[in-house]
Amino acid sequence: MKFKISEQIATIKPYEAGKPLKEVQREYQIAHVIKLASNENPIGFSPKVYDAVAQNMKDMNRYPEFSNFLLCNKLSKKFHVAPENIVIGNGSDDIIALLAHGFLNPGDEALMPLSSFLMYEISVKTAKGIPVMVPLSDFSTNLEGLVEKISAKTRLIFITNPFNPTGSTITYDEFDEFADKVPEDVIIIVDEAYIEFVRNDAVYNSLKNPLQDPRIVTLRTFSKAYGLAGFRVGYGIMDSEIAQILNRIRQPFNVNTLAQAAAFAAIDDEQFLNKSIQTTHDGLDFLFKELGNLGLLCLPTQSNFLMINLKTDATQVFEEMLKSGVIVRSMKSYGFDTFLRVNTGTKEENVTFIQALKKVLKK
Ligand SMILES: *Cc1c(COP(=O)(O)O)cnc(C)c1O
Repeated sequence: MKFKISEQIATIKPYEAGKPLKEVQREYQIAHVIKLASNENPIGFSPKVYDAVAQNMKDMNRYPEFSNFLLCNKLSKKFHVAPENIVIGNGSDDIIALLAHGFLNPGDEALMPLSSFLMYEISVKTAKGIPVMVPLSDFSTNLEGLVEKISAKTRLIFITNPFNPTGSTITYDEFDEFADKVPEDVIIIVDEAYIEFVRNDAVYNSLKNPLQDPRIVTLRTFSKAYGLAGFRVGYGIMDSEIAQILNRIRQPFNVNTLAQAAAFAAIDDEQFLNKSIQTTHDGLDFLFKELGNLGLLCLPTQSNFLMINLKTDATQVFEEMLKSGVIVRSMKSYGFDTFLRVNTGTKEENVTFIQALKKVLKK
């Protein structure tokens, strides 16, 4: 290329999204395709969202509410924090990028586990910072390893709890021990995209006691348990001084009108949320049982997905599964050559997945 690209940005590997359903239908000429590759909600979203969206359609000639006022207020009541402690984003991806841009000077470091959600690395590099990766230890976040990498240049530490893609978690005790060793001027970003699915009470939940520590920024999303991935809404809960910076640099209309209305309506529907969580737990229990019967090893998980060790090249199995109309994720690009990641689907989808896997593995 004749144009000189920023050196940091030249090193970014493109984000690999789950293969889109329609693309597989087209490529393989299969009418019925199921997707269990992007940790999406298989049962949709709250019916209340339809009404909220319909009512807001008439205002779509206007710019969205600039301050995300109604949604901020609702979240503020839900978590007992002030609206000044909340930043709403176009997905939590948006807030990840804002944190990187707000707090990294060129050459500053952001620590994260190796094989983390790719948006951390992409955002840090885009902000001209340096991502410092710490390998997992037994498929879990190596908190001690992160502490060891802290330097005078460290500004941000990214933690995902539960961790995507392995499903591992961090307990309260582990988190406290870690946080004690982090300097006062380093921001600890705790990405809790899957926290609603956690069944183990010992797992750290930063919003049980929010804002106790000004270094902690909690990220949450409506994309998973609430099923609103296509709307793009996520939020962060944080010290008001950090929130002020993010609100200063975000796009003024980063969350569109329909997305704000959808999220606002979705929060109220606890019945749907519970159904979504129950469907996930039932799905996990079913998959663990069936995969166990096939003699396949799975990593324990507290999220809506699990990693399966096939003990054979996962990308080959992934390709074969595609031909059967089942989209899952090969974990090869994350360095787990023999692992598939699959999220829980509906009852029928889970059965279809097991059948397709049996066929491909000739079990
Ligand atoms: C899915 C996911 C998110 C959510 O991203 P959105 O931009 O809110 O859709 C955030 N972090 C992790 C680790 C995820 O897997």
